[in-house]
Amino acid sequence: AAKAAGKNRYMRFQPAMMTALVQRTDMEAGLRLAVDNDQISVSYQPVVSPRLGEVIQFEALARWERDGRNVPPSQFIPTAERSGLISVVGLQMMRESFIQLGPWLSTDAGRSLAVNVSGVQLRDCDFAGSVLGMAGSHGMDPRQLVLEVTESVFFDADEHVISQLASLRSAGVRVALDDFGTGYSSLGRLQDLPVDAVKIDQSFVSMVRTGAEKLPILSSMINMAHSLGLGVTAEGIETSAQAAYLTDLQCDALQGYLFSVPESEAGLEQAISRSTAALEALEGLRLRR
Ligand code: C2E
Ligand code: MG
Ligand code: MG
Ligand code: MG
Repeated sequence: AAKAAGKNRYMRFQPAMMTALVQRTDMEAGLRLAVDNDQISVSYQPVVSPRLGEVIQFEALARWERDGRNVPPSQFIPTAERSGLISVVGLQMMRESFIQLGPWLSTDAGRSLAVNVSGVQLRDCDFAGSVLGMAGSHGMDPRQLVLEVTESVFFDADEHVISQLASLRSAGVRVALDDFGTGYSSLGRLQDLPVDAVKIDQSFVSMVRTGAEKLPILSSMINMAHSLGLGVTAEGIETSAQAAYLTDLQCDALQGYLFSVPESEAGLEQAISRSTAALEALEGLRLRR
């Protein structure tokens, strides 16, 4: 009977397990090759200031083109985290973006580069040291670097993670809380987190459909962040109604397809001119009201 039950269990679980295992192994093997061969590239999406009317930041986003097809980060970042490859990918991304955005950053101290960082990286033994060392060797001012982390990083944050963030911040690196509003904890916990800014998740921005409705949750999020002295960026802005609404709520910065999709280094000039044009249109819209 035991043998039959064992066999049964084997039969029942095997196909699904095999499929998952094969997919996972294939993704990981492919990713390892891509990392070794420098096939992970960086795209940059502008972040604009409605007050200044210009692009103030670029966010670096990882891109993997595998056999001519784009693998979305939502698929390969979890694999990279599970396998530990994220540490290498993360540093490669940083080096590439420090080099590619160096000229744009060096002409204005108010400009910044934002890089997404996984909790796995923060648990590495000397993450802060590698980041600051790399910044130093590329002539990058740490005050122009923003690290985007999600709330999950703080969920089980040990002393090591906290001290990595602290030494980065004391060198001038800013930390932004990505996907703000989607985490488990209450808004009230924001004051305990060692962050300098928040990025309001696009799920909140997409609630703005016409610009006529009042969305107390959005203004509460922005007001709370401001009262704690944090900067506020809204992500996933797709319509001018959303841009106008968030500008009216005193949101400091906006990001989304309305301004520009993420672009490769070759498309940066275009991303800047499209974003500036969209900002002018937004200003016109707000003046006419
Ligand atoms: P995220 O950091 O919150 O980035 C925003 C995502 O929304 C990006 O997707 C961006 O392309 C997309 N997006 C921007 N504007 C709009 C818009 O107007 N509408 C819509 N629908 N989407 C918009 P992407 O590049 O696919 O990245 C997804 C997530 O993968 C990122 O979310 C981030 O959490 C993660 N990720 C990307 N690159 C890296 C990386 O280098 N390291 C780490 N650790 N995570 C990364
Ligand atoms: Mg981000
Ligand atoms: Mg986000
Ligand atoms: Mg996200």
